[in-house]
Amino acid sequence: MSAAGQIKVGVVGARGRMGQTVIQAVSSADDLVLAAAVDQGDDINLVNDCDVVVDFTTPSVVMPTLQHCIEQGVHCVVGTTGFDDGRLAQLQAWLSSKPGVGVLIAPNFGVGAVLMMQFAQLAAPYFESVEIIELHHPDKVDAPSGTARRTAELIGAVRSDRGVAKSPDATSQELQGARGASVNDVRVHSVRARGLVAHQEVIFGGVGETLTIRHDSMDRTSFMPGVLLGIRSVAKHPGLTVGLDSYLD
Ligand code: NAD
Repeated sequence: MSAAGQIKVGVVGARGRMGQTVIQAVSSADDLVLAAAVDQGDDINLVNDCDVVVDFTTPSVVMPTLQHCIEQGVHCVVGTTGFDDGRLAQLQAWLSSKPGVGVLIAPNFGVGAVLMMQFAQLAAPYFESVEIIELHHPDKVDAPSGTARRTAELIGAVRSDRGVAKSPDATSQELQGARGASVNDVRVHSVRARGLVAHQEVIFGGVGETLTIRHDSMDRTSFMPGVLLGIRSVAKHPGLTVGLDSYLD
């Protein structure tokens, strides 16, 4: 905390699209103060005096940053995608030697996107078929998106718990990639096109009907209420948390 009782925030990935938006949001909040802004080539030790670090970088660089922050006792709010089970287990291991430190990994900070994932889980056991289409700007480096991967994992877990069979699919000849990637037996298709920001459709199919749940982020500011909630709440949630939904009422 600063002398004025503000939460001292460090932003890693500070020159990026999300980093810049986070800096504006933090600078506009009376209870937060921007204490460090770090990008490629800067000294990560600049964050050592922060209460919370927000990371929006790339999957290839996020892990060393998180290891450093955890060792320094700095809480982390992470929007960078690409977290698989192996990475989450590594974070748990680092956190086990630093009780009291909180790390939030949020594949999507949009409240609408969090609800979209919850609605998808609700619908998951009731339809024979389910597939996901995610659509993003072409500068995105990872596919599928973290949101799509997380949605598929959540849907797959519900269907497996409830004994729902795999979606039917008679495909026997396929141009490689035509049926998308399989995540927990849910097919995920990634579209990249200039003009898009971040969008996702979850399509459920049953006999004689379909149900489509769609979420659109029109602007990166849509993620900021969720990021600010994460910054303000992470210290109250020691250990590893995956998904912003755990922080919502
Ligand atoms: P971007 O390419 O605009 O920004 C990434 C920044 O990280 C760049 O400024 C780059 O220089 C910096 N960087 C690279 N290596 C670094 C290092 N070693 N140390 C510090 N900084 C380094 O990307 P973006 O659009 O801002 O997205 C960033 C990440 O956030 C991506 O993984 C994206 O998928 C994810 N994202 C998540 C959400 C969410 O709600 N969780 C929303 C949007 C984007």
